[in-house]
Amino acid sequence: MGDRRSGGTLIRGGHVLTSAEPAEITDGAVRVVGDRIDEVGSWSDLSTRFGDDAVTGGPHDIVTPGFVNTHGHFSEALVAGIAEHCTLWEWLQEVIFAINPFLTSEMAHVGTMLAGIQMLRSGITTASDMFVCAPVGGPVTPGVVRGLDEIGLRGDVSFGAGDRGPASIEMVMAEHEALREAADASRLTRFRVGVAALSAQSDELLSRSAELAVTSGRGTHIHLQEVREEVTDTRNLYGVTPIAHCEQVGTFGAPTLAAHCVWVDASDREILAANGVGVAHNPVSNMILASGVCPVPDLRRLDVPVGIGVDGAASNDGQNFLEAMKLAVLMQRLDHLQATALSARDGFRMATIEGARALRLDAEVGSLEPGKAADIVVFDGGGPALANVHDPYQKVAYCSSPADVKDVWVAGERSVAGGEVTRVDVAEVVARSRELSRTLAADAGLGHLSILA
Ligand SMILES: [Zn+2]
Repeated sequence: MGDRRSGGTLIRGGHVLTSAEPAEITDGAVRVVGDRIDEVGSWSDLSTRFGDDAVTGGPHDIVTPGFVNTHGHFSEALVAGIAEHCTLWEWLQEVIFAINPFLTSEMAHVGTMLAGIQMLRSGITTASDMFVCAPVGGPVTPGVVRGLDEIGLRGDVSFGAGDRGPASIEMVMAEHEALREAADASRLTRFRVGVAALSAQSDELLSRSAELAVTSGRGTHIHLQEVREEVTDTRNLYGVTPIAHCEQVGTFGAPTLAAHCVWVDASDREILAANGVGVAHNPVSNMILASGVCPVPDLRRLDVPVGIGVDGAASNDGQNFLEAMKLAVLMQRLDHLQATALSARDGFRMATIEGARALRLDAEVGSLEPGKAADIVVFDGGGPALANVHDPYQKVAYCSSPADVKDVWVAGERSVAGGEVTRVDVAEVVARSRELSRTLAADAGLGHLSILA
C-alpha cells in the first residue's frame, strides 16, 4: 500500500451502499489507496481532506461493494443455451457427462474468460467456481486460474471431484493439487476442495476430500440437496439425507459452502446452522432445471449465510448476476404469494456481505469498509434506468442491468471501465471460444442438441 495521504482515488456516488454501518451514505465517496479501501464517508468531507486525489464516479451514480458470486462452473462456458428440455439428472447425463472427458486446459482458459467477462460486466468481483471435468489427459483446471488472472476477477476456485466416471481417485487428487498450485501462485485467486455430489464419488474419495479440505485450510464447495432424486438416492444408500450424511462423515469439519439446498427439511436446516455451513442460492438455475425453491427466508432466520450464485453457464443460461439477484427476491415472493417475503435490501445483502460470509471471505470482501479489498462497482446514474432514485436498493436490485454497470474495481484496479472490460480483447476471446465450442460439441457427440456439432 502506498502513502495513505497521497495517491488515492475518490469514487463518488449520489448513493453509496456499504453493506456495513452506516448502510447508506447520501452524496458519499469511497477512498481507495493501492488495493485497499482507505476511507468511506461524505463527499464534502473526503473531497476537502483529499483534494489532490483523482476523482471518478459522480453525484448521480450509485456505488456498491463488488458482488460475490457464490456458485458457478466455468466448465460449462462453451455449452450454454442447449438441452432446455432436461431436468438436472437428465441434463447431467445428456450434456455434462458427455463433455467432461473432452474439456482441455485451453477450453478452461478461454471458457473462464468468456463467462468471466459477463460476470464482471454484471458487477461480480469474486467468483466462486467448481470446475467439473474428467481429467483423463492431465490437469485442466490451471487454465481457470490463468483466465481469472488475465481478466482481473477474484476467484475462489475448486475442482468437482468424481471417481465414479472415467477418472480414478489418484487422477482426481492430482487435479486438486494442480489447481491448488496454480491458485497459490495467483494474487487474486484461492483454492478450495470441490465435491460435485455424494453420488459422484466413492466413500474413500469423500473422506480424502474432507481430509484435504481440513489440511489445506481452505474448506469445501459441494452441491447439496439440489433435487429430490438426490435426497432419495442418498437415503436409500446411507439411510439419511445428504446433509446428515456429510455431518456424520466429517465433511463439515472444514468450512463448507453448500450449493442449492433446495430440498431441505427442518432437520437439515438445523444441521447447516449448527455447522456454520454457508449456502449458495441459484434462483435462475433452479428455475431452468425445474429443481424447486430454496427456503431462503427459513435459512436466513437461522442465521445461515445465504449468498447468490449464477451457477454454470449451461444451467442458467447466462452469467448475469443482476438478473440472479432480482430473481432471488421475486422467486420467494411468488412462492409465498407475499410481497414481503424478501426485499430488495435482503437481495442486496445476500449479493454482497452474506455471500462473502458464506465463503468466509467477509474479512476481505463483501462490504465497503476501511481496510477491506477495494472491490467496488459504480452504477451509471446518467442512463435512463437509474435516472430517478426513489430507493437505491430497489433501483439496483430491480431496475439495473449490465448496461448500467460503468466501472468495476477489483483489488484497487479497474477491471471494467466505461462498461467494458479493460484487460482483454473481447472480440478475440469470443472468436477463440467459437472454434473451441464447435470442437467440444463435436467431440462430445452433441449433434442431437447442437447445430454446431
Ligand atoms: Zn452447480
